[in-house]
Amino acid sequence: MGNPIYGQSSSNEFVIMIDPGHGGKDSGTPGTGRYKATEKDIALDVSLALGNMIKQKLSNVKVVYTRSNDVYPTLNGRTIVANKKDVDLFISVHCNAQPGKKGTAYGSETYVLGTTKNKQNLEVAKRENSVIALEDNKEVYKNFNPNSPESVLGLMIAQEQYLDHSIKLARYIEDEFQITAKRRSRGVKQNIFYVLAYTYMPSVLVELGFLTHKKEEDFLNSKRGKALMTKSLFNAVEKYLKYLNVGTETEVFIDNTPKPKTTSSDIEFKVQIAASSKALETKPYNFKGLNNITRIKEGSLYKYFYGSTSDYSTTKQLEADARKQGYTSSFVVAFKNGKKITLEEALKTISKIN
Ligand SMILES: [Zn+2]
Repeated sequence: MGNPIYGQSSSNEFVIMIDPGHGGKDSGTPGTGRYKATEKDIALDVSLALGNMIKQKLSNVKVVYTRSNDVYPTLNGRTIVANKKDVDLFISVHCNAQPGKKGTAYGSETYVLGTTKNKQNLEVAKRENSVIALEDNKEVYKNFNPNSPESVLGLMIAQEQYLDHSIKLARYIEDEFQITAKRRSRGVKQNIFYVLAYTYMPSVLVELGFLTHKKEEDFLNSKRGKALMTKSLFNAVEKYLKYLNVGTETEVFIDNTPKPKTTSSDIEFKVQIAASSKALETKPYNFKGLNNITRIKEGSLYKYFYGSTSDYSTTKQLEADARKQGYTSSFVVAFKNGKKITLEEALKTISKIN
């Protein structure tokens, strides 16, 4: 194989996708109308600045964008790219608007996928999803119905495994807006946003502030305002990566699998799906959604295994599942009392007992 890293997409880089909301024909909220720049412009400026800061300051992290200029990728298109590129974290950047002419609401909000009965939150999701009406191919959205309990339940189940991480980052972001940018935070909120529902990784949607609020609009249009919001987002991402141990080597063996029942043979089969010099957290989002991942350090390499069973036919099934998920070079490995043995030896031991 030559390459010490296999079974993984291309490298061990942590991939962050930044999604500047709207673009092109979809300008987002125009705000008070006092500025030429609308939501799409501010979202793009902050997104690009955040991406640049990450590239400059964080090693082992790759940044990709859904758009890097004034074009309009469809909501569906944004999620497809994110899922295809094996993105580890998805951040959608937006600005808020208060319906009506009051212009009194201000402050930041960060959303993760979830349900809400709060009227204001519902308004935000309605506005951010409404662009679907402008899209040509509405067919792809026919199963997306935030008003149907069945549809919502399905969306929630698909995202469930990522939600803890999404909330973690969302909290860091809202904290940072208060600490670093000294802004008013309206908190971490939940609602059904298309881009959060269909990205299979931790994902958040950030509302930097209200462009319908004069002072906040001035702030978000200013160089200083954009720089402070960018720095806040960067600090939050950095905290999140630290929390995940990304970019730091750790010798701690993390085992999420319940210990297998000891059988008379003490033989255990696992499917080796990947090996690398980097210690990844054994979480599903790092392994294409696979659960029950264990990690063992052998020499300078960390080896990652999927599943654990004393039954050979079960492990062959797991191997097939892993290959289907894209780990095409997966293979079965045997252990006796926790020590690696050859497959031959394992199968011989089993046949003797039976
Ligand atoms: Zn928006």
